[in-house]
Amino acid sequence: MPLIECPDCGRQISDRAKVCPDCQCPIAEVMAERRDAEVRAQHVASRERVEREVDCGRCHGRGWFGFGDGLIAWCIVCEHTGRTPLCRASDGWYSVAPYAVERFLAGGLDAPTSGVVYFLGANEPKAHAFPEAAHRVPVDPESPAIPWTLDPDEKRKLGGA
Ligand SMILES: [Zn+2]
Ligand SMILES: [Zn+2]
Repeated sequence: MPLIECPDCGRQISDRAKVCPDCQCPIAEVMAERRDAEVRAQHVASRERVEREVDCGRCHGRGWFGFGDGLIAWCIVCEHTGRTPLCRASDGWYSVAPYAVERFLAGGLDAPTSGVVYFLGANEPKAHAFPEAAHRVPVDPESPAIPWTLDPDEKRKLGGA
């Protein structure tokens, strides 16, 4: 029976124990969280930028997106072009705002909760929805208009937590 060290009191206990018999630390939960954190760390470590662009995950390659009331807004995730840098990791492919790539690669941003990183799936995206990218209008990364975080409605639409 393998033994592990209780993360709270340091005592050697069975790796099957749900709770430390000494200090009542919820071992099973703590270990599951650690495993999740390790898996995430491995995915983050594998993140890299691919030298091509992909359709923007927020506006789906249009350079703008529509609201339910018929109004449209220019997309500042892709800086109006409809295209964003493509990134790859061991868990799949990502569309990332140009000004967010470094923070994404360093593990500081995730899809879709950041509002500027989009998970595209396990397969490399190939074609573009439109043949030409629109004109780039660089945005200030400090602009308060950038959706660094999403509101709950938008998260639901994107399938986020
Ligand atoms: Zn303990
Ligand atoms: Zn866009």
